[in-house]
Amino acid sequence: MISLDIHRRVEAGTRAFDLDVSLSSQARRIALFGPSGAGKSLTIRAIAGLLRLDRGCIVVNGVTLYDSDRGIALSPQARRLGYLQQDYGLFPHLTVIQNIAFGLTRGWLNPRGRRLPEVARRWVDAFDLDAILNSYPSEISGGQKQRVALARALSVEPRLLLLDEPLAALDAGLRVRMREELAALQSRLDIPTILITHDPQDAVMLADQVFRIRDGRIEGDCTPQGLMAAQ
Ligand code: ADP
Ligand code: ADP
Repeated sequence: MISLDIHRRVEAGTRAFDLDVSLSSQARRIALFGPSGAGKSLTIRAIAGLLRLDRGCIVVNGVTLYDSDRGIALSPQARRLGYLQQDYGLFPHLTVIQNIAFGLTRGWLNPRGRRLPEVARRWVDAFDLDAILNSYPSEISGGQKQRVALARALSVEPRLLLLDEPLAALDAGLRVRMREELAALQSRLDIPTILITHDPQDAVMLADQVFRIRDGRIEGDCTPQGLMAAQ
């Protein structure tokens, strides 16, 4: 279902970091778990098409997003991924509705000719965002920001959802609630998911298989429950 073979050397000053991530999973929802600096965000950005690869192959549900051997490299738009960035990545100068619409209006996607308001409207309703549509990110709460970012990610009707520490920016109480909401959404939408997290609780609720990553490599995999037990 998800198959990754990702190779990229990034240079940071005199140091080099080698990302060599290979994994294959039949699970619908997987998590990448590992310490800070392990290469989790680079991996997600590579899948999203935002990090050029030295070589590799990325296949999701039978769709080849990238294959250096065969010369296939879909554009970020054509990949049709819902990418929930760490800290949400909302544009501060755009209102909530403009943020949600951004992926669609900039030609990132024209979902089968459907008009923008319809697609966005579905998620505005689902997340109860009507009252804040004309607010700016600085004027809304953390939980609202999370929902706005999620509405933006889902409005592209993604073939894969990329969640980069989706709950890390929330306080403890909200975190528990949003974790449940995300899990409910996952089972309702049935979209394959790659989750990045530091928190075994997130993995238990939001993933079916966990891959441990360190120093740019996959060390092994386990069940979310196994990860929890090992902490
Ligand atoms: P391009 O080839 O289009 O310039 P890159 O793959 O070089 O694209 O860069 C894409 C992203 O990868 C950058 O926005 C940056 O965040 C990250 N990146 C680029 N260079 C480095 C680097 N030397 N070290 C770490 N990350 C890097
Ligand atoms: P993680 O998400 O697991 O915390 P990252 O994927 O962000 O780790 O980063 C992996 C390593 O790649 C970092 O330790 C750093 O050395 C390097 N790196 C990533 N992005 C950049 C960047 N924009 N500039 C310099 N180095 C980077």
